[in-house]
Amino acid sequence: MIPREFEYHAPKSIPDALGLLKQFGDEAKLLAGGHSLLPMMKMRFAQPGHLIDLSRIPELKGIRESGGTLHIGAMTTENELIWSKLLQEKCPLLVEGARLISDPQVRYKGTLGGDISHGDPGNDHPALMLALGASFVLKAASGERVVPADGFFVGTYDTLMKQGEIMTEIRIPVPAPGTGYCYSKLKRKVGDFATAAAAVTLRMTGETVREVAIALTNLGPTPLKARAAEDSLRGKALTDASIGEAAQLAMSICDPAADQRGDAEYKTAMAGEMTQRALRTARSRASK
Ligand SMILES: Cc1cc2nc3c(=O)[nH]c(=O)nc-3n(C[C@H](O)[C@H](O)[C@H](O)COP(=O)(O)OP(=O)(O)OC[C@H]3O[C@@H](n4cnc5c(N)ncnc54)[C@H](O)[C@@H]3O)c2cc1C
Repeated sequence: MIPREFEYHAPKSIPDALGLLKQFGDEAKLLAGGHSLLPMMKMRFAQPGHLIDLSRIPELKGIRESGGTLHIGAMTTENELIWSKLLQEKCPLLVEGARLISDPQVRYKGTLGGDISHGDPGNDHPALMLALGASFVLKAASGERVVPADGFFVGTYDTLMKQGEIMTEIRIPVPAPGTGYCYSKLKRKVGDFATAAAAVTLRMTGETVREVAIALTNLGPTPLKARAAEDSLRGKALTDASIGEAAQLAMSICDPAADQRGDAEYKTAMAGEMTQRALRTARSRASK
């Protein structure tokens, strides 16, 4: 299908983009990589009269570390995440997750900020952000706020972001050296969204779990933080039995929509399987 007619704007700075957002209000939409927005426009689920392209704003790009935090510009593409030596060394979970997103074409254009802002429970970065304890910088004409990933996703295609705001940066605390990690994603074929996926970060002291985070993709209207599963593991040995119990607790919070990828029962079972696999792989990668 063909989108509705729109005007295209290409601001060169954040203040200019914020000015356009203010000027056109509800008629405006921000354009990042376009790999979610343009399909929505072609299907006429989104019908903006004005598209504000963020790709010519240099401040929205780049990956740097400062004071124990990784700062990633919202317009950083999936491939730029994958190619980043800094992330490969300091935050390999993000690299592993980005490599599992769609296909090379999407990864050249799709951005971290767009993937998060879209609020699609099928997108992979939201659960990765929950597992990594990320926060998001949201700028408006009236000022800036920083919101944690935990609580940001409020429903399908719905986040805490307000009209008039731009996500400018993603902040991730640098995982402690020796943190185990894994993003375990089941998909029907290369390029597909997750049938079920689990993101895990894990710190061990000897055989005991010191800290763990577990987050799930495409298993409810938002990404899910599996808190009871995490609580069940802290301070315990990571055995087949404790991993199995955590997987059951993760499954108990799932509420997936049935679709061509499977019914709710199958997807929930796969959530348990992905959680177990992610925990086992994270354990094998964690320093003890
Ligand atoms: C065939 C196909 C397969 C895919 N498979 C996967 C997959 O397996 N996993 C996955 O995670 N994703 C997948 N995607 C989605 C893809 O990763 C998109 O690129 C991503 O969801 C949106 O990022 P974008 O940069 O393209 O944003 P756009 O499509 O340009 O924008 C998406 C939404 O976010 C808003 N937005 C964008 N940037 C900002 C910002 N900085 N501040 C505020 N709002 C903003 C836009 O206004 C729009 O509403 C797939 C897409 C396709 C076409």
